[in-house]
Amino acid sequence: MNGTSLRCYKALKEVAEVANSALPPKKFLRSIAKSATKAINVDGCSVALKNTTGEHLVSISSYGLSDWYSRSSLLEQNHDLEQVMNGEVVFIPNARQDPRFQNSELVAREGMVSILSIPLTQRGEVIGALNVHSRTQREFSHAERDFLFAVGNLAVIASENIKLHDLMQQIPCDNTADDTALPKLTSSLASPPSFAHPSEKEFARLLDFYRIEWLYEPRSFPLQWEKDQAEEMFTPDFYLPAVNIYLEITTLKQKHQSDKNRKVRRLKKLYPEINIKLLNKKDYINILAKYGYGPLGQTTVQDIDRILFSENQIQERVRLLGEQISKDYANKQPLLIGILKGMFCFMADITRHITIPLSVDFMAISRYANDISGAVRITKDIEENITGKDILMIEDIVDTGMTLNYVLNYLSTHNPSSLHVCTLLDKKARRLINVPLTYKGFEIPDEFVVGYGLDYQDKYRNLPFIGVLRPELDKK
Ligand code: 5GP
Repeated sequence: MNGTSLRCYKALKEVAEVANSALPPKKFLRSIAKSATKAINVDGCSVALKNTTGEHLVSISSYGLSDWYSRSSLLEQNHDLEQVMNGEVVFIPNARQDPRFQNSELVAREGMVSILSIPLTQRGEVIGALNVHSRTQREFSHAERDFLFAVGNLAVIASENIKLHDLMQQIPCDNTADDTALPKLTSSLASPPSFAHPSEKEFARLLDFYRIEWLYEPRSFPLQWEKDQAEEMFTPDFYLPAVNIYLEITTLKQKHQSDKNRKVRRLKKLYPEINIKLLNKKDYINILAKYGYGPLGQTTVQDIDRILFSENQIQERVRLLGEQISKDYANKQPLLIGILKGMFCFMADITRHITIPLSVDFMAISRYANDISGAVRITKDIEENITGKDILMIEDIVDTGMTLNYVLNYLSTHNPSSLHVCTLLDKKARRLINVPLTYKGFEIPDEFVVGYGLDYQDKYRNLPFIGVLRPELDKK
Protein backbone atom coordinates (compact mmCIF):
# COMPACT_ATOMS: atom_id res chain seq x y z
CA MET A 1 0.00 0.00 0.00
CA ASN A 2 1.54 3.39 -0.95
CA GLY A 3 1.51 6.53 1.26
CA THR A 4 -1.63 8.06 -0.25
CA SER A 5 -3.60 4.81 -0.08
CA LEU A 6 -2.59 4.35 3.54
CA ARG A 7 -3.65 7.92 4.38
CA CYS A 8 -6.94 7.42 2.54
CA TYR A 9 -7.59 4.18 4.36
CA LYS A 10 -6.90 5.84 7.74
CA ALA A 11 -9.07 8.81 6.78
CA LEU A 12 -11.98 6.54 5.86
CA LYS A 13 -11.64 4.83 9.21
CA GLU A 14 -11.72 8.24 10.97
CA VAL A 15 -14.71 9.42 8.94
CA ALA A 16 -16.60 6.23 9.73
CA GLU A 17 -15.84 6.73 13.42
CA VAL A 18 -17.03 10.35 13.55
CA ALA A 19 -20.06 9.42 11.45
CA ASN A 20 -21.00 7.08 14.24
CA SER A 21 -20.34 9.64 16.99
CA ALA A 22 -22.56 12.30 18.51
CA LEU A 23 -20.67 15.32 17.19
CA PRO A 24 -22.81 18.38 16.40
CA PRO A 25 -23.44 18.76 12.62
CA LYS A 26 -20.95 21.53 11.88
CA LYS A 27 -18.17 19.85 13.86
CA PHE A 28 -18.90 16.56 12.18
CA LEU A 29 -18.66 18.15 8.72
CA ARG A 30 -15.46 19.97 9.68
CA SER A 31 -13.95 16.72 10.84
CA ILE A 32 -14.79 15.18 7.46
CA ALA A 33 -13.28 18.15 5.65
CA LYS A 34 -10.13 17.77 7.74
CA SER A 35 -9.78 14.05 7.04
CA ALA A 36 -10.23 14.60 3.30
CA THR A 37 -7.68 17.45 3.26
CA LYS A 38 -5.02 15.42 5.02
CA ALA A 39 -5.62 12.17 3.17
CA ILE A 40 -5.11 13.45 -0.36
CA ASN A 41 -2.65 16.16 0.63
CA VAL A 42 -4.54 19.24 -0.45
CA ASP A 43 -4.74 22.58 1.35
CA GLY A 44 -8.37 22.83 2.30
CA CYS A 45 -11.79 21.35 1.95
CA SER A 46 -15.31 22.70 2.36
CA VAL A 47 -18.64 20.97 2.65
CA ALA A 48 -21.46 22.85 0.95
CA LEU A 49 -25.17 22.10 1.09
CA LYS A 50 -28.05 23.23 -1.09
CA ASN A 51 -30.31 25.92 0.30
CA THR A 52 -34.01 25.15 0.65
CA THR A 53 -34.91 26.37 -2.84
CA GLY A 54 -32.10 24.28 -4.29
CA GLU A 55 -30.62 27.25 -6.14
CA HIS A 56 -27.46 27.77 -4.17
CA LEU A 57 -24.79 25.73 -2.57
CA VAL A 58 -23.71 27.21 0.71
CA SER A 59 -20.49 26.41 2.51
CA ILE A 60 -21.41 24.95 5.89
CA SER A 61 -18.10 23.81 7.30
CA SER A 62 -14.51 23.81 6.16
CA TYR A 63 -10.96 22.95 7.08
CA GLY A 64 -7.73 24.68 6.05
CA LEU A 65 -9.49 27.64 4.46
CA SER A 66 -9.48 31.13 5.90
CA ASP A 67 -12.69 32.32 7.42
CA TRP A 68 -13.45 34.91 4.80
CA TYR A 69 -12.70 32.56 1.92
CA SER A 70 -14.81 29.69 3.15
CA ARG A 71 -17.62 31.91 4.38
CA SER A 72 -17.96 33.69 1.06
CA SER A 73 -20.19 31.18 -0.62
CA LEU A 74 -19.01 32.56 -3.96
CA LEU A 75 -16.95 29.50 -4.64
CA GLU A 76 -19.95 27.29 -4.42
CA GLN A 77 -22.04 29.67 -6.47
CA ASN A 78 -19.69 30.50 -9.27
CA HIS A 79 -17.94 27.50 -10.52
CA ASP A 80 -20.03 25.48 -12.83
CA LEU A 81 -22.83 25.20 -10.35
CA GLU A 82 -25.20 23.54 -12.74
CA GLN A 83 -22.82 20.69 -13.37
CA VAL A 84 -22.46 19.96 -9.67
CA MET A 85 -26.20 20.30 -9.16
CA ASN A 86 -26.64 17.71 -11.91
CA GLY A 87 -24.42 15.32 -10.04
CA GLU A 88 -21.31 15.80 -12.15
CA VAL A 89 -17.77 16.25 -10.88
CA VAL A 90 -16.29 19.67 -11.60
CA PHE A 91 -12.55 20.03 -11.86
CA ILE A 92 -10.91 23.43 -12.27
CA PRO A 93 -7.17 22.99 -12.81
CA ASN A 94 -6.41 26.71 -12.50
CA ALA A 95 -9.17 28.73 -10.86
CA ARG A 96 -7.20 31.95 -11.25
CA GLN A 97 -7.41 31.75 -15.01
CA ASP A 98 -10.56 29.78 -15.60
CA PRO A 99 -13.26 31.95 -17.23
CA ARG A 100 -15.93 29.96 -15.37
CA PHE A 101 -14.59 31.40 -12.17
CA GLN A 102 -15.80 34.96 -11.77
CA ASN A 103 -13.86 35.79 -8.68
CA SER A 104 -10.34 34.75 -9.47
CA GLU A 105 -9.11 37.56 -7.19
CA LEU A 106 -10.64 35.85 -4.17
CA VAL A 107 -8.98 32.56 -5.08
CA ALA A 108 -5.64 34.23 -5.75
CA ARG A 109 -5.73 36.02 -2.41
CA GLU A 110 -6.27 32.71 -0.65
CA GLY A 111 -3.40 31.31 -2.70
CA MET A 112 -5.53 28.53 -4.24
CA VAL A 113 -5.11 27.16 -7.75
CA SER A 114 -6.85 23.84 -8.36
CA ILE A 115 -10.36 23.06 -7.17
CA LEU A 116 -12.33 19.84 -7.37
CA SER A 117 -16.04 19.55 -6.53
CA ILE A 118 -17.62 16.19 -5.83
CA PRO A 119 -21.43 16.13 -5.63
CA LEU A 120 -23.01 14.79 -2.46
CA THR A 121 -26.07 12.74 -3.26
CA GLN A 122 -28.81 11.27 -1.14
CA ARG A 123 -31.00 8.60 -2.74
CA GLY A 124 -30.02 9.85 -6.18
CA GLU A 125 -30.64 13.53 -5.40
CA VAL A 126 -27.82 16.07 -5.15
CA ILE A 127 -27.87 17.72 -1.74
CA GLY A 128 -24.49 19.42 -1.71
CA ALA A 129 -20.85 19.18 -2.68
CA LEU A 130 -17.48 18.36 -1.22
CA ASN A 131 -14.95 20.88 -2.54
CA VAL A 132 -11.22 20.41 -2.23
CA HIS A 133 -8.77 23.26 -2.79
CA SER A 134 -5.09 23.07 -3.62
CA ARG A 135 -2.46 25.81 -3.57
CA THR A 136 -0.46 24.07 -6.28
CA GLN A 137 -1.81 23.15 -9.67
CA ARG A 138 -2.54 19.47 -9.63
CA GLU A 139 -4.63 16.65 -11.07
CA PHE A 140 -6.81 14.29 -9.06
CA SER A 141 -6.38 10.59 -9.76
CA HIS A 142 -9.32 8.18 -10.12
CA ALA A 143 -8.38 6.68 -6.77
CA GLU A 144 -8.49 10.12 -5.10
CA ARG A 145 -11.84 10.93 -6.68
CA ASP A 146 -13.21 7.55 -5.57
CA PHE A 147 -11.94 8.22 -2.08
CA LEU A 148 -13.71 11.62 -2.00
CA PHE A 149 -16.93 10.01 -3.22
CA ALA A 150 -16.63 7.45 -0.42
CA VAL A 151 -16.08 10.20 2.16
CA GLY A 152 -19.03 12.15 0.75
CA ASN A 153 -21.28 9.10 0.82
CA LEU A 154 -20.36 8.33 4.40
CA ALA A 155 -21.15 11.93 5.31
CA VAL A 156 -24.53 11.68 3.68
CA ILE A 157 -25.33 8.28 5.21
CA ALA A 158 -24.53 9.75 8.59
CA SER A 159 -26.81 12.66 7.80
CA GLU A 160 -29.81 10.99 9.39
CA ASN A 161 -27.88 10.78 12.67
CA ILE A 162 -26.58 14.31 12.59
CA LYS A 163 -29.78 15.96 11.40
CA LEU A 164 -28.14 17.34 8.29
CA HIS A 165 -31.63 17.96 7.13
CA ASP A 166 -32.24 20.39 10.00
CA LEU A 167 -29.11 22.24 9.03
CA MET A 168 -30.33 22.57 5.48
CA GLN A 169 -33.65 23.96 6.68
CA GLN A 170 -31.79 26.76 8.44
CA ILE A 171 -30.39 28.04 5.18
CA PRO A 172 -32.56 30.97 4.13
CA CYS A 173 -34.14 30.75 0.70
CA ASP A 174 -33.90 33.26 -2.08
CA ASN A 175 -37.20 35.07 -1.92
CA THR A 176 -36.61 38.76 -2.47
CA ALA A 177 -36.93 39.91 -6.03
CA ASP A 178 -35.90 43.47 -5.24
CA ASP A 179 -32.64 42.46 -3.65
CA THR A 180 -30.60 42.23 -6.79
CA ALA A 181 -28.36 45.04 -5.54
CA LEU A 182 -27.30 43.00 -2.55
CA PRO A 183 -23.76 41.76 -2.56
CA LYS A 184 -23.46 38.35 -4.13
CA LEU A 185 -20.81 37.56 -1.57
CA THR A 186 -23.28 37.16 1.25
CA SER A 187 -21.28 35.79 4.08
CA SER A 188 -24.54 34.67 5.51
CA LEU A 189 -26.13 31.54 4.19
CA ALA A 190 -27.37 32.38 0.68
CA SER A 191 -29.76 35.22 -0.09
CA PRO A 192 -31.49 37.36 2.47
CA PRO A 193 -34.93 36.78 3.95
CA SER A 194 -37.72 39.35 4.07
CA PHE A 195 -36.82 41.80 6.75
CA ALA A 196 -39.35 43.23 9.13
CA HIS A 197 -37.80 46.69 8.99
CA PRO A 198 -35.61 48.57 6.45
CA SER A 199 -32.98 49.19 9.14
CA GLU A 200 -32.50 45.44 9.47
CA LYS A 201 -32.04 45.07 5.74
CA GLU A 202 -29.49 47.87 5.76
CA PHE A 203 -27.67 46.25 8.64
CA ALA A 204 -27.61 42.90 6.83
CA ARG A 205 -26.05 44.63 3.84
CA LEU A 206 -23.37 46.03 6.10
CA LEU A 207 -22.59 42.59 7.53
CA ASP A 208 -22.51 41.14 4.03
CA PHE A 209 -20.13 43.84 2.98
CA TYR A 210 -17.70 42.80 5.69
CA ARG A 211 -18.32 39.11 4.93
CA ILE A 212 -19.69 38.44 8.36
CA GLU A 213 -21.98 35.45 8.43
CA TRP A 214 -25.42 36.17 9.86
CA LEU A 215 -28.72 34.47 10.42
CA TYR A 216 -31.94 36.45 10.59
CA GLU A 217 -34.19 35.71 13.56
CA PRO A 218 -32.90 32.14 13.89
CA ARG A 219 -34.13 31.51 17.40
CA SER A 220 -36.94 32.55 19.73
CA PHE A 221 -36.41 32.60 23.47
CA PRO A 222 -39.34 32.05 25.84
CA LEU A 223 -39.31 34.82 28.46
CA GLN A 224 -42.47 34.10 30.48
CA TRP A 225 -44.39 30.91 31.09
CA GLU A 226 -47.95 30.27 32.07
CA LYS A 227 -48.05 26.71 33.30
CA ASP A 228 -46.13 24.89 30.57
CA GLN A 229 -46.93 27.38 27.83
CA ALA A 230 -44.54 30.12 26.80
CA GLU A 231 -46.47 33.37 27.30
CA GLU A 232 -43.87 35.76 26.01
CA MET A 233 -41.18 35.13 23.42
CA PHE A 234 -38.28 37.23 22.25
CA THR A 235 -36.66 36.76 18.85
CA PRO A 236 -33.45 38.77 18.40
CA ASP A 237 -33.01 40.15 14.87
CA PHE A 238 -29.63 38.67 14.03
CA TYR A 239 -27.25 35.97 15.11
CA LEU A 240 -23.58 36.12 14.06
CA PRO A 241 -22.35 32.50 14.36
CA ALA A 242 -18.66 33.28 13.90
CA VAL A 243 -18.61 35.52 16.95
CA ASN A 244 -21.51 33.87 18.76
CA ILE A 245 -23.50 37.03 19.33
CA TYR A 246 -27.20 37.89 18.98
CA LEU A 247 -28.12 41.42 17.92
CA GLU A 248 -31.34 43.26 18.42
CA ILE A 249 -31.71 46.46 16.45
CA THR A 250 -34.14 49.08 17.53
CA THR A 251 -34.72 52.35 15.78
CA LEU A 252 -37.40 53.41 18.22
CA LYS A 253 -36.88 56.65 20.10
CA GLN A 254 -35.20 56.33 23.47
CA LYS A 255 -38.41 56.73 25.46
CA HIS A 256 -40.10 53.87 23.60
CA GLN A 257 -37.26 51.50 24.10
CA SER A 258 -37.99 50.39 27.61
CA ASP A 259 -39.87 47.27 26.52
CA LYS A 260 -36.97 46.09 24.37
CA ASN A 261 -34.53 46.87 27.15
CA ARG A 262 -36.63 44.87 29.56
CA LYS A 263 -36.73 41.90 27.18
CA VAL A 264 -33.00 41.98 26.63
CA ARG A 265 -32.38 42.20 30.39
CA ARG A 266 -34.73 39.27 30.99
CA LEU A 267 -33.12 37.20 28.27
CA LYS A 268 -29.70 37.82 29.81
CA LYS A 269 -31.00 36.76 33.20
CA LEU A 270 -32.75 33.60 31.99
CA TYR A 271 -30.08 32.58 29.51
CA PRO A 272 -26.77 33.81 30.95
CA GLU A 273 -24.81 31.82 28.38
CA ILE A 274 -26.39 33.83 25.54
CA ASN A 275 -24.41 36.79 24.29
CA ILE A 276 -26.78 39.53 23.14
CA LYS A 277 -26.32 43.17 22.25
CA LEU A 278 -28.96 45.82 21.73
CA LEU A 279 -28.14 48.36 19.05
CA ASN A 280 -30.33 51.36 19.73
CA LYS A 281 -31.27 54.16 17.40
CA LYS A 282 -28.22 56.21 18.30
CA ASP A 283 -25.84 53.24 17.72
CA TYR A 284 -27.48 52.53 14.43
CA ILE A 285 -27.33 56.14 13.22
CA ASN A 286 -23.70 56.40 14.27
CA ILE A 287 -22.75 53.18 12.49
CA LEU A 288 -24.25 54.50 9.26
CA ALA A 289 -22.87 57.99 9.81
CA LYS A 290 -19.32 56.79 9.58
CA TYR A 291 -20.08 55.69 6.05
CA GLY A 292 -21.33 59.21 5.34
CA TYR A 293 -25.01 58.45 5.08
CA GLY A 294 -28.02 57.30 6.97
CA PRO A 295 -30.22 59.75 8.84
CA LEU A 296 -27.25 61.72 10.13
CA GLY A 297 -25.95 61.92 6.59
CA GLN A 298 -29.01 63.81 5.47
CA THR A 299 -28.66 66.32 8.22
CA THR A 300 -26.43 69.36 8.17
CA VAL A 301 -23.96 68.84 10.92
CA GLN A 302 -23.16 72.32 11.99
CA ASP A 303 -20.82 72.00 14.83
CA ILE A 304 -18.88 70.06 17.36
CA ASP A 305 -20.87 69.26 20.45
CA ARG A 306 -17.88 69.00 22.79
CA ILE A 307 -14.17 68.27 22.85
CA LEU A 308 -13.30 64.77 24.04
CA PHE A 309 -9.49 64.99 23.91
CA SER A 310 -7.54 68.21 23.58
CA GLU A 311 -4.49 68.56 21.37
CA ASN A 312 -2.21 68.32 24.44
CA GLN A 313 -3.93 65.21 25.77
CA ILE A 314 -3.58 63.49 22.40
CA GLN A 315 0.07 64.43 22.01
CA GLU A 316 0.94 63.21 25.50
CA ARG A 317 -0.82 59.88 25.00
CA VAL A 318 0.77 59.36 21.58
CA ARG A 319 4.22 60.05 23.09
CA LEU A 320 3.67 57.37 25.76
CA LEU A 321 2.46 54.85 23.18
CA GLY A 322 5.54 55.56 21.05
CA GLU A 323 7.83 54.96 24.04
CA GLN A 324 6.14 51.68 24.89
CA ILE A 325 6.35 50.45 21.29
CA SER A 326 10.05 51.41 21.13
CA LYS A 327 10.68 49.25 24.22
CA ASP A 328 8.57 46.29 23.09
CA TYR A 329 10.12 46.20 19.63
CA ALA A 330 13.73 46.82 20.71
CA ASN A 331 16.09 44.89 18.37
CA LYS A 332 13.32 44.50 15.83
CA GLN A 333 12.39 46.59 12.86
CA PRO A 334 8.60 46.76 12.76
CA LEU A 335 6.62 47.61 9.68
CA LEU A 336 3.79 49.98 10.58
CA ILE A 337 0.75 49.60 8.34
CA GLY A 338 -2.04 52.15 8.27
CA ILE A 339 -5.44 51.89 6.60
CA LEU A 340 -6.15 55.12 4.75
CA LYS A 341 -7.26 57.72 5.52
CA GLY A 342 -8.33 58.26 9.14
CA MET A 343 -4.99 57.32 10.75
CA PHE A 344 -2.82 59.81 8.88
CA CYS A 345 -2.38 62.27 11.79
CA PHE A 346 -1.86 59.47 14.31
CA MET A 347 0.64 57.65 12.08
CA ALA A 348 2.60 60.82 11.43
CA ASP A 349 2.83 61.63 15.14
CA ILE A 350 3.47 58.18 16.57
CA THR A 351 6.27 57.35 14.16
CA ARG A 352 8.10 60.42 15.45
CA HIS A 353 7.92 59.09 19.00
CA ILE A 354 9.23 55.64 18.10
CA THR A 355 12.98 55.60 18.52
CA ILE A 356 13.86 52.28 16.85
CA PRO A 357 14.23 51.76 13.09
CA LEU A 358 10.91 51.15 11.37
CA SER A 359 9.25 51.31 8.00
CA VAL A 360 5.73 52.27 6.99
CA ASP A 361 3.21 51.11 4.43
CA PHE A 362 -0.40 51.93 3.70
CA MET A 363 -3.42 50.15 2.41
CA ALA A 364 -6.90 51.25 1.48
CA ILE A 365 -10.11 49.29 1.50
CA SER A 366 -13.40 49.93 -0.21
CA ARG A 367 -15.98 51.72 1.87
CA TYR A 368 -19.45 50.38 2.41
CA ALA A 369 -21.15 53.58 1.26
CA ASN A 370 -19.25 53.71 -2.03
CA ASP A 371 -19.32 50.06 -2.91
CA ILE A 372 -22.67 48.79 -1.87
CA SER A 373 -22.99 46.31 -4.72
CA GLY A 374 -19.81 44.51 -3.76
CA ALA A 375 -18.08 43.19 -0.72
CA VAL A 376 -15.25 44.78 1.16
CA ARG A 377 -12.06 44.58 -0.86
CA ILE A 378 -8.61 46.01 -0.85
CA THR A 379 -8.37 48.98 -3.19
CA LYS A 380 -4.72 49.69 -2.39
CA ASP A 381 -2.58 46.82 -1.23
CA ILE A 382 0.60 46.99 0.82
CA GLU A 383 3.74 47.34 -1.23
CA GLU A 384 6.10 45.53 1.12
CA ASN A 385 6.40 41.76 1.38
CA ILE A 386 5.35 41.13 4.98
CA THR A 387 6.21 37.44 5.26
CA GLY A 388 8.38 36.95 8.35
CA LYS A 389 8.10 40.60 9.40
CA ASP A 390 6.87 42.19 12.61
CA ILE A 391 3.72 44.02 11.64
CA LEU A 392 2.08 46.73 13.71
CA MET A 393 -1.26 47.94 12.40
CA ILE A 394 -1.87 51.61 13.17
CA GLU A 395 -5.59 52.36 13.44
CA ASP A 396 -7.47 55.56 14.13
CA ILE A 397 -10.48 53.97 15.77
CA VAL A 398 -11.90 50.50 16.30
CA ASP A 399 -15.64 50.49 16.50
CA THR A 400 -17.53 47.31 15.54
CA GLY A 401 -14.18 45.68 14.67
CA MET A 402 -15.37 44.59 11.22
CA THR A 403 -12.76 46.58 9.27
CA LEU A 404 -9.87 45.39 11.36
CA ASN A 405 -11.11 41.81 11.38
CA TYR A 406 -11.09 41.77 7.59
CA VAL A 407 -7.65 43.35 7.33
CA LEU A 408 -6.06 41.13 10.00
CA ASN A 409 -7.43 38.02 8.29
CA TYR A 410 -5.98 39.21 5.03
CA LEU A 411 -2.55 40.10 6.45
CA SER A 412 -2.22 36.87 8.38
CA THR A 413 -2.48 34.88 5.15
CA HIS A 414 0.94 36.37 4.28
CA ASN A 415 2.50 34.78 7.37
CA PRO A 416 4.07 37.74 9.14
CA SER A 417 6.33 36.92 12.09
CA SER A 418 4.03 38.89 14.40
CA LEU A 419 0.87 40.94 13.94
CA HIS A 420 -0.30 43.48 16.51
CA VAL A 421 -2.62 46.46 16.54
CA CYS A 422 -2.15 49.94 17.93
CA THR A 423 -5.33 52.00 17.87
CA LEU A 424 -5.71 55.55 19.03
CA LEU A 425 -9.37 55.15 19.96
CA ASP A 426 -11.26 52.12 21.17
CA LYS A 427 -15.05 52.40 21.01
CA LYS A 428 -15.46 49.26 23.05
CA ALA A 429 -19.18 49.59 23.71
CA ARG A 430 -20.08 48.82 20.14
CA ARG A 431 -17.67 45.96 19.45
CA LEU A 432 -19.22 43.12 17.48
CA ILE A 433 -16.05 41.25 16.57
CA ASN A 434 -13.43 40.90 19.25
CA VAL A 435 -10.19 41.89 17.62
CA PRO A 436 -7.04 41.83 19.75
CA LEU A 437 -5.80 45.39 20.50
CA THR A 438 -2.27 45.40 21.90
CA TYR A 439 -1.90 49.19 22.23
CA LYS A 440 -4.73 51.64 22.86
CA GLY A 441 -4.69 55.40 23.14
CA PHE A 442 -8.08 56.08 24.70
CA GLU A 443 -11.28 54.19 25.28
CA ILE A 444 -14.17 56.35 24.15
CA PRO A 445 -17.89 56.27 24.78
CA ASP A 446 -20.38 55.33 22.13
CA GLU A 447 -20.28 58.66 20.27
CA PHE A 448 -19.46 59.67 16.73
CA VAL A 449 -16.15 61.55 16.86
CA VAL A 450 -14.21 63.70 14.40
CA GLY A 451 -10.88 65.49 14.25
CA TYR A 452 -7.21 64.48 14.28
CA GLY A 453 -7.66 62.61 10.99
CA LEU A 454 -11.21 61.39 11.59
CA ASP A 455 -13.84 62.76 9.28
CA TYR A 456 -17.50 63.19 8.73
CA GLN A 457 -18.18 63.26 4.99
CA ASP A 458 -14.47 64.05 4.54
CA LYS A 459 -14.63 67.15 6.75
CA TYR A 460 -13.09 67.92 10.16
CA ARG A 461 -9.95 65.82 9.57
CA ASN A 462 -7.72 68.83 10.21
CA LEU A 463 -9.01 69.60 13.71
CA PRO A 464 -6.11 69.21 16.16
CA PHE A 465 -8.44 67.81 18.83
CA ILE A 466 -11.00 64.99 18.88
CA GLY A 467 -14.56 66.11 19.34
CA VAL A 468 -18.05 64.72 19.37
CA LEU A 469 -20.29 65.74 16.52
CA ARG A 470 -23.55 67.31 17.45
CA PRO A 471 -26.00 64.51 16.80
CA GLU A 472 -28.77 66.69 15.40
CA LEU A 473 -31.16 63.83 14.98
CA ASP A 474 -30.87 62.56 18.50
CA LYS A 475 -32.07 65.90 19.75
CA LYS A 476 -35.36 65.69 17.90
P1 5GP B 1 -15.32 49.34 12.42
O1 5GP B 1 -15.10 48.51 11.22
O2 5GP B 1 -14.45 48.98 13.59
O3 5GP B 1 -16.76 49.45 12.81
O4 5GP B 1 -14.98 50.83 12.00
C1 5GP B 1 -13.71 51.28 11.80
C2 5GP B 1 -13.66 52.46 10.89
O5 5GP B 1 -14.88 53.21 10.94
C3 5GP B 1 -12.60 53.39 11.36
O6 5GP B 1 -11.37 53.10 10.74
C4 5GP B 1 -13.15 54.76 10.98
O7 5GP B 1 -12.77 55.06 9.66
C5 5GP B 1 -14.65 54.59 11.04
N1 5GP B 1 -15.22 55.05 12.32
C6 5GP B 1 -15.67 54.30 13.36
N2 5GP B 1 -16.13 55.08 14.35
C7 5GP B 1 -15.97 56.35 13.95
C8 5GP B 1 -16.22 57.60 14.56
O8 5GP B 1 -16.71 57.74 15.69
N3 5GP B 1 -15.89 58.70 13.83
C9 5GP B 1 -15.35 58.62 12.58
N4 5GP B 1 -15.05 59.78 11.96
N5 5GP B 1 -15.09 57.45 11.98
C10 5GP B 1 -15.39 56.33 12.66
